[in-house]
Amino acid sequence: MPPQLVAGGPRVLLRRLREIMAERGSAQARMDKLVSVIAANMVAEVCSIYLRRAGDHLELFATEGLNRAAVHNTRLKPGEGLVGLVAQTSEPLNLSNAPEHPSFSYRPETGEDPFRSFLAVPIVRGERVFGVLTVQNRTARHYDEEEEEALATIAMVLAEVVAQGTLVDLAEIGEAQLSPTRPATFRGECLAEGVAIGTVFLHEPRVKVDRMIADDPAAELKRLEGALEQLRLAVDAMLASSELDLTGETREVIEAYRLFALDQGWRQRLVDAVRSGLTAEAAVERVQDETRARINRTDDPYLRGRLHDFDDLARRLIRHLAATDGAVERHVLPENAVVVARGMGPAELLDYGRNRIAALVVEEAAETSHIAIVARSLGIPLIGGVEGVADAAIEGDRIVVDGETAEVHIRPPGEVIIAFQAKRALLAQRVARFAAIRDEPAVTKDGVRVSLNMNAGLLLDLPHISQSGADGIGLFRTELQFLVGSKMPRLKDQVDFYRQVFDAAGSKPVVFRTLDLGGDKVPSYGRTAREENPAMGWRAIRIALDRPALLRYQVRALIAASEGRRLRLLFPMVSEVAEFESAQALVAREQMRAEKVGTVLPEAILMGAMLEVPSLLFELRQMMKASDFISVGSNDLLQFIFAADRANPAVAKRYDTLSPAVLNLVRQIAEAGKNAGRLGDISFCGEIAGRPLEAMALVGFGITSLSMQASMIGPVKMMIRNLDTTKLKPVIERLCGIERSSARSELSDFAAAHGVPIGRTG
Ligand code: PEP
Ligand code: MG
Repeated sequence: MPPQLVAGGPRVLLRRLREIMAERGSAQARMDKLVSVIAANMVAEVCSIYLRRAGDHLELFATEGLNRAAVHNTRLKPGEGLVGLVAQTSEPLNLSNAPEHPSFSYRPETGEDPFRSFLAVPIVRGERVFGVLTVQNRTARHYDEEEEEALATIAMVLAEVVAQGTLVDLAEIGEAQLSPTRPATFRGECLAEGVAIGTVFLHEPRVKVDRMIADDPAAELKRLEGALEQLRLAVDAMLASSELDLTGETREVIEAYRLFALDQGWRQRLVDAVRSGLTAEAAVERVQDETRARINRTDDPYLRGRLHDFDDLARRLIRHLAATDGAVERHVLPENAVVVARGMGPAELLDYGRNRIAALVVEEAAETSHIAIVARSLGIPLIGGVEGVADAAIEGDRIVVDGETAEVHIRPPGEVIIAFQAKRALLAQRVARFAAIRDEPAVTKDGVRVSLNMNAGLLLDLPHISQSGADGIGLFRTELQFLVGSKMPRLKDQVDFYRQVFDAAGSKPVVFRTLDLGGDKVPSYGRTAREENPAMGWRAIRIALDRPALLRYQVRALIAASEGRRLRLLFPMVSEVAEFESAQALVAREQMRAEKVGTVLPEAILMGAMLEVPSLLFELRQMMKASDFISVGSNDLLQFIFAADRANPAVAKRYDTLSPAVLNLVRQIAEAGKNAGRLGDISFCGEIAGRPLEAMALVGFGITSLSMQASMIGPVKMMIRNLDTTKLKPVIERLCGIERSSARSELSDFAAAHGVPIGRTG
């Protein structure tokens, strides 16, 4: 008779494992017992546990049936042998004749030659592979599905125990950062300046699954069915909600989500996992781990895109389960909350409200992504590109965010806190130095006056106009107001809002950019269709011209709010002069209407185009003629010039903003301005304008108008007041011709040699 799972199945085994885990004695003794119990229960002659060591080697940690002397001696390189293959692919391997497999590698010290059949499953938790669990038999046989299931369930429980650090020292297996009590330091990229010390608040909360093994499987099954039903009801309610008013593709996406929630295959896998002895929560995690591994292996872009739906559903289901347990612990923002997220959209950040967050740490965010822009506008320090932080941080942990070094310290030791506090005091002194030149003009040593303006978009930004000493608002991102609310702002709300902006600016000019919606700026009530490439999709002026009512209302509100003052309008994402002219015509119609109904007209309406789509570079001469001013949106312009998504950390930093290509681009734009005799009407408002070294290069080319986040006006002004452009000009001309990918070091050397401060924080 072929060997098989003994009576009682995995359920009995799981109970036995729990007892072993709770026993006293050394970790090794417990692990030795584990393998022998698993082997006996599965009627296998061999059972082994391999764990991943720091450096990614897999080490034999315990075995029943192989030579004991091989324990802690047999080590496999990543991908080596069948065990290495399982760890690498995170996929089970079920072979009736293992030595025939091309990846088989024979290790004589283990004495495994007599064993032919081989079943191995990865020991995974989340996306982390801790090791591999194997069983082997002499006879060439195929383990059936039930046995494979059982081994996977055991491996999952093992993974949990390993992650808790009770079985092996986590440092030993290179997983120290998982240990909740240990300090951990991460490095990312500083996307919004500032430092903070506070308490971790997880944006996507994890509900901790404490109980893995069920006491009463029948009751567990009932809990699972109950939670599934609640999940279905919640998704139906979401679809029916008139507030969301779903149409078109958005509805399709939610419908698809609902189908996943109803999916019988998913349900069956969950039920099977509970039947095998797991608690309902553990079953959800187990099935989700498998789903994630399966989807990650496919090339199907649709399924890969849906992975977050499955993750989301699994999280919700666990939350429903926790609710029936009365164990939902959510969620008052703690004081000095530092929000830790895998990813976040700008609207979600606005939902938190400025004053409630001390800092933000996001795994996936790049410098010119809109979340970064909103964070800067709100004055919230943001570190992006911090891989692994969302897994390592635990709600309630102490956390230090250091924008200067782009480091994040979780559970920091006392020395880090002391050093950090000293640093904070130092930063305050630097800020005071900038404050001292706040009312001084930004004039270079050779007498070039540069207009330094600030970027804004929310009422919260307005006090910065006077605090920063800005000459005006060079870019007011009006769409942010649309992103904050749950409803589209009414005409009256818009008028009130713009009036407050005018009033706060007083005599200083404000450039209102008309709605730049679309891309990653989609309001919660938005009905945009899913797009393959949203940044190049239906956004900004394209929406405005296709749905003219939106732009007309906005212009109507701006005219009304101006109350006779000068109105400056800037159109985003203009790709050709004709688009600009259509927008201009629309404004003219609104102007006529305002006149007719007796609204006080602005003293003048000036209209400009954002230069952020490369095609406009080839019509720049005509564009300058047609418009009153040009504002170069380098964030978008560079993403399109380099074909590198500004929101994707994997490519956003790939090309230097001081590469010869960028220098030549700026030179060309400045030349066009000079030729038209209107260099002063060209302003730069992307992030590079607020970086002292990049700003130095822009001024070197003759650009005299910059707009940036308010906090950078001090550092940029400090740079300008110490700069002599007559010395810089020949250097920068030469740098346009270098044959390397960056002129950064030459420009830094120039700054150092001429005493030009280029620090972002002084
Ligand atoms: C830009 O693209 O550089 C810009 C200023 O606009 P936004 O960052 O809002 O897209
Ligand atoms: Mg832009």
